[in-house]
Amino acid sequence: MNVNQSAPPVPPFGQPQPVYPGYHQSSYGGQPGSTAAPTPYGAYNGPVPGYQQTPPPGMSRAPPSSGAPPASTAQAPGGQAAHGQFGQGDVQNGPSSTVQMQRLPGSQPFGSAPLVPVVSQPAVLQPYGPPPTSAQVTAQLAGMHISGAVAPVPPTSGLGYGPPTSLASASGSFPNSGLYGSYPQGQAPPLGQAQGHPGAQPPQRSVPPQASSFTPSASGGPRMPSMTGPLLPGQSFGGPPVSQPNHISSPPPQALTPGTQMSGPPGPPPPMHSSQQPGYQLQQNGSFGPVRGPQPNYGSPYPGTATFGSQPGPPQPLPPKRLDPDAIPSPIQVIEDDRNNRGSEPFITGVRGQVPPLVTTNFLVKDQGNASPRYIRCTSYNIPCTSDMAKQAQVPLAAVIKPLARLPPEEASPYVVDHGESGPLRCNRCKAYMCPFMQFIEGGRRFQCCFCSCINDVPPQYFQHLDHTGKRVDAYDRPELSLGSYEFLATVDYCKNNKFPSPPAFIFMIDVSYNAIRSGLVRLLCEELKSLLDFLPREGGAEESAIRVGFVTYNKVLHFYNVKSSLAQPQMMVVSDVGDMFVPLLDGFLVNVNESRAVITSLLDQIPEMFADTRETETVFAPVIQAGMEALKAAECAGKLFLFHTSLPIAEAPGKLKNRDDRKLINTDKEKTLFQPQTGVYQTLAKECVAQGCCVDLFLFPNQYVDVATLSVVPQLTGGSVYKYACFQVENDQERFLSDLRRDVQKVVGFDAVMRVRTSTGIRAVDFFGAFYMSNTTDVELAGLDGDKTVTVEFKHDDRLNEESGALLQCALLYTSCAGQRRLRIHNLALNCCTQLADLYRNCETDTLINYMAKFAYRGVLNSPVKTVRDTLITQCAQILACYRKNCASPSSAGQLILPECMKLLPVYLNCVLKSDVLQPGAEVTTDDRAYVRQLVTSMDVAETNVFFYPRLLPLTKSPIENTTEPPAVRASEERLSNGDIYLLENGLNLFLWVGASVQQGVVQSLFGVSSFSQITSGLSVLPVLDNLLSKKVRGLIDGLRAQRSRYMKLIVVKQEDKLEMLFKHFLVEDKSLSGGASYVDFLCHMHKEIRQLLS
Ligand SMILES: [Zn+2]
Repeated sequence: MNVNQSAPPVPPFGQPQPVYPGYHQSSYGGQPGSTAAPTPYGAYNGPVPGYQQTPPPGMSRAPPSSGAPPASTAQAPGGQAAHGQFGQGDVQNGPSSTVQMQRLPGSQPFGSAPLVPVVSQPAVLQPYGPPPTSAQVTAQLAGMHISGAVAPVPPTSGLGYGPPTSLASASGSFPNSGLYGSYPQGQAPPLGQAQGHPGAQPPQRSVPPQASSFTPSASGGPRMPSMTGPLLPGQSFGGPPVSQPNHISSPPPQALTPGTQMSGPPGPPPPMHSSQQPGYQLQQNGSFGPVRGPQPNYGSPYPGTATFGSQPGPPQPLPPKRLDPDAIPSPIQVIEDDRNNRGSEPFITGVRGQVPPLVTTNFLVKDQGNASPRYIRCTSYNIPCTSDMAKQAQVPLAAVIKPLARLPPEEASPYVVDHGESGPLRCNRCKAYMCPFMQFIEGGRRFQCCFCSCINDVPPQYFQHLDHTGKRVDAYDRPELSLGSYEFLATVDYCKNNKFPSPPAFIFMIDVSYNAIRSGLVRLLCEELKSLLDFLPREGGAEESAIRVGFVTYNKVLHFYNVKSSLAQPQMMVVSDVGDMFVPLLDGFLVNVNESRAVITSLLDQIPEMFADTRETETVFAPVIQAGMEALKAAECAGKLFLFHTSLPIAEAPGKLKNRDDRKLINTDKEKTLFQPQTGVYQTLAKECVAQGCCVDLFLFPNQYVDVATLSVVPQLTGGSVYKYACFQVENDQERFLSDLRRDVQKVVGFDAVMRVRTSTGIRAVDFFGAFYMSNTTDVELAGLDGDKTVTVEFKHDDRLNEESGALLQCALLYTSCAGQRRLRIHNLALNCCTQLADLYRNCETDTLINYMAKFAYRGVLNSPVKTVRDTLITQCAQILACYRKNCASPSSAGQLILPECMKLLPVYLNCVLKSDVLQPGAEVTTDDRAYVRQLVTSMDVAETNVFFYPRLLPLTKSPIENTTEPPAVRASEERLSNGDIYLLENGLNLFLWVGASVQQGVVQSLFGVSSFSQITSGLSVLPVLDNLLSKKVRGLIDGLRAQRSRYMKLIVVKQEDKLEMLFKHFLVEDKSLSGGASYVDFLCHMHKEIRQLLS
């Protein structure tokens, strides 16, 4: 579709295309696009205006002064001195081994160990800078061996979406996933041994370095040949191999330093470590070697020691060692640190290249010239100057853009700028819109484009004088000269057919076949619509919504309804020729709700009755969408179809589908076909919908396979949403469905939209992910775009970037508002550019990287075997980390795993992506569920992917009842669960309440209103409303979690040891999964091996 067709005089997106032959999608980090014709590079004069001037009125604090980008080099500001590069005598410190050994009471026999192989540095916060870079997570994982993680992992069900209708009974069977295909089943990768690196002892350190050797910790099974990894010099095997759950056994002569870790359990604030603390060990990074001095207890394995590690290692018999989960980077700790360090002050966007707080941190944003991170987040805020550097690092350069993001009430929506008939001011050459980075020259008569350097005349009506700094004196009176985000009212040139649009329409299209009637869906829906229609989106202070509505019901045929206000009763018109769909009425089909209220109410009352006795089980699908789209076309407006559909459309009609669900294809080369649509009909239809600005939201209520992969094609390509309620029953699912429906109908949507991302000369947008359609390589076409949807854009170099001028992004979204107003929303973001790889690595955002990588992988499964996709992800991650190791970390033992501070969670998060249902399905994950999740993730923002891949696990009974704040989360692992407590787990789609078997009776009574654990109903989805503190607190917390998410999360109560627990354990993502997904510890070791291979 081309919204701006008919060659409007000012083609909004009609800029000359850079010459490039398509974009490369071959693989991660592949070749950047071919070099475009070199445009003379001109300096754009940077973000100076944004932060060198007096703040606009109302600004409570001055922006930081300009100057070098924060933390761009090793000569970081004073506060960072302690975190310099390795080899410069810097120290790393961490919590003591004492602290580290405090484990949650867990069910596992070997719940803790004193070995702390991972060292990282606490982030030191700079007010406006990225976290310090030199802090590194290091771990020696060299010749260590993981004994197979063989403890019978309780079978977990991969089911996760939809009611737990059946559960895996595959107890003990571990599908060979292919991830570690070369390992004997049940064995962890032959890898990595954790090895702390020795460091200088603090003067008063009281704990001697006694824990210097690994000793096998329990009775061991035979070591498999494939488990023998390379040994470090000086290593040998000193004891029997170990076979223990999640344990890493190692040869004794390992140089180890106890207590040299820092990412342990939440402890004291990071920067406060002092050498006086017995457990903290200062460490000199440059001084360690693979083998350390005299090692007490060398070679004294303690096989069979079953209970070691539970005491805080006084300096006597050395306990056996293994890779301690507390010692590897913890998502919980990173999230907590960021909250503590960055949650209290607003994030002010005046400085170029600032890394924003994490998505998990609650913070306010003040726009001082760059778009809020709520609109745009980047994988890195410092981009390599050259494509060679970018290729070397393999860090994807991408932005996750949410153009219509909803803002908290404290933050103002973008101002709307009206330039009257002349429309928004743009660069003549590249068509970029006026923004704070445009440079006015010649006394204000001209401006130089910050994207392409073209010199443009300032139109007389826009002329303004410059002050002595060269800035326009009206800069702060104009949003487009001082803010990162704003809107322009579009002129008629930006409208289809050079005509201002009509207000959009909503069409409700209801399946009335047997299943829909029998489940109670139709009655429930019709009842709800009667009141919901009063809440259609409206603009500003408008009294009523401008949106018109229409109604269709269908099974094998379609029924249109005339609900014109002048009628006494609605009239039905049946169209049975579904092969050639047409709309039988124009007048009276789309109506104003208030005008036609009586007729509409009458219709909604009658529909359930009319079809109450239906025997019709067959449905059509494509003709329904076709009908809705034709109706909008006839009414000459954009709009949205709400489809409520129950079954595989097998009735004779275009888009008829057959059941092709074949789980035998999993792990074969044909697996990709499960994700592909089975017919091209829907793509063609989607294209027509996009041209009409017809967005499709699909609510599915399947009792069996409905081919989500095919049915979701149109919603996906039109910017719509898909909701799925498997085995829908009114009594169980109505709250979830109605909540989703209300939110979906009420949310603000932009219609008939086109998005374009412009960049400074040197990089350009080459790839796009999300729910939209593209008919060329630059314009993202969205029939609809709501405030929850993101578009992820990847950039590649086509020329050199300049360190001084940085790089600019401008996202322009042209759309029709819900009142029918044509607008342009502009978001600008300035990034830094670097010539040192270290600057790239210290300005990355792992959550955004994961968002991009997941979307890349989830698209990849359409074309490649899933195993190939997984391998690609692992390889890229290893390349990213190996490049850092090689170029940014100072020389150290090859056996050491060194992670950049900003990316220390990359392995754990990536592992979660790898073992997600799309890339590694468990036995109970249906083909439809995989397709459903695949398309959901495609539009997720960074906060959503973060919690989706690494769920939040909240202990409810640890803190005092009176404490009403949200309890601090714990890591998603079974060993963090204590059977005397209750936990909530959520991932944005699912919500579990796990009850330990030994929970106090009083707690059970307060929360469930029954007298004992055994009386709690497993699978309960509603907590009783009881008048006590605990009940109120937990219910309040659940409501709070639901309010944060874009979809309603249905609660499932899971009792410890109950069969439903398998479902729950699927979400304990740090553990090994039944589907073959590695535990975090194992994956970290595997990743380390990959990195070492790349480095050798
Ligand atoms: Zn330009």
